[in-house]
Amino acid sequence: GNESRRPHVVLLPTPGMGHVIPLADFAVRLAAAHSFSATLLTFSNFNSPAQAAFLASLPSDSVTSVSLPSISLSDLPPDSPIEVHLCALLTRCLPLLRDAFLSFRNPAAAFVCDLFGSVTLSLVRELGVPGYIFYPTNLRMLTLALHLPRLDETTDVDFEDLPDPVCLPGCVAIRGTDFPDPLRKKSHPAYAPLIRIMSSDAAGILVNSFEEMEKEVLKAIREEEQAEAGRPPVHLVGPMVRSGSDEADESGCLEWLDRQPADSVLFVSFGSGGSLSTEQMQEMALGLEASGQRFLWVVRCPSDKEKNAAFFTSGSKDDPSNYLPEGFLERTKDVGRVVSSWAPQVKVLAHAATGGFFSHCGWNSALESTVHGVPMIAHPLYAEQHWNAVLLTEAVGIAIRPRSRDPYGVVGREEIAAAVKELMQGEKGKALRCRTKELQEAAARALAPPDGSSYKALQGVANKWKEGASLRVAST
Ligand code: UDP
Repeated sequence: GNESRRPHVVLLPTPGMGHVIPLADFAVRLAAAHSFSATLLTFSNFNSPAQAAFLASLPSDSVTSVSLPSISLSDLPPDSPIEVHLCALLTRCLPLLRDAFLSFRNPAAAFVCDLFGSVTLSLVRELGVPGYIFYPTNLRMLTLALHLPRLDETTDVDFEDLPDPVCLPGCVAIRGTDFPDPLRKKSHPAYAPLIRIMSSDAAGILVNSFEEMEKEVLKAIREEEQAEAGRPPVHLVGPMVRSGSDEADESGCLEWLDRQPADSVLFVSFGSGGSLSTEQMQEMALGLEASGQRFLWVVRCPSDKEKNAAFFTSGSKDDPSNYLPEGFLERTKDVGRVVSSWAPQVKVLAHAATGGFFSHCGWNSALESTVHGVPMIAHPLYAEQHWNAVLLTEAVGIAIRPRSRDPYGVVGREEIAAAVKELMQGEKGKALRCRTKELQEAAARALAPPDGSSYKALQGVANKWKEGASLRVAST
């Protein structure tokens, strides 16, 4: 059919909405703007209600989602961290991936995985397909990832015990306590697999960021590429964010926003998987209340064990009055709105009433906030969110970060209230809003055909894939 004449790209996102969403969006973009057909391979082990609904909403004429057969992880210690599950899953999927490749009627012109998928790239290369990594976060985080093997070899202590911050080319100095959590201590079960995760057979690395946001670090990366032959070239192709047009508003929070003044509401949300501890939940609630500002808060049952407790169950609902402070809902009902578990985030950020975003600094959230010109308050929880918080506050200048007394401690209600007031009403907030609007415009320019930097970078890669595919067809 017609479909089989389009070049075919195969994508393998790691489980988790924060991984599936960007790779699916990338597939949609390749189909719409560059005439590919795309197959999105997913893991049947992990299919949350939110993910199932999201996959069902993809344009079925250009993006097909195929679920790989279930992979047993029952031998892993049940309390091992998510990163260990993900690394094991990706290592064990190789035979299934080979079968999938052999079953495609339209052979793959290119393969794209995310960072946990880098272990699949040698197999894909063996199958004669160029394999790329879609790096769903920023260039500064990629710089850290690329330097990890060397940092590990030259550092005897745990990174979190380093007395001085680490300086990487083009990056603001970062403390070991702001490293991704599995990397802070060498004894972490995911430390070893993650240190070498970017040492791969990639033909290139696509990064969901754009030049204006990462100027200094891009310059440094280009210099490194010049100096080291054979390094996979980096392509900045973002910001790729969801349009949000398919988002449903079950809770009616958008109608509530319609009734609020422009730029007056703080959106509070911690991504698809983030949960606060019981104590942090109390401080957050009382801090928001004390700020006196309008807020729209996506709440989840607190968890004292894992900061990403909702990771695999996104979309499950519960009753917030069970865990919010006594009387909180009643006292804040005129200024605040609480939504259980999930909100149409892109529509919320795009809404004129939304003037700030209290965020865990997941990279998708940071980009969505940027493209809608909404400045942020950084409250990182897990994964690489601390690093993102550092760069958003210190390098990019679109966020403020209320601090706890010790690096991993609870952020108190006073700090939260002060940050919220500052962002929504203060001079610093005004400056951040200006800077965010500048970046919003720069993001739009980067994506605009024919000359936007990200547009051109992706077009270059797409053309290469098409040429490779037609050469392979010609030689058979
Ligand atoms: N998201 C949403 N509603 C919510 C929570 C999250 O639509 O209530 C979306 C959000 O817009 C973003 C993604 O889920 O696209 C979260 O990705 P991010 O990288 O910010 O964080 P992660 O979930 O990976 O921690």
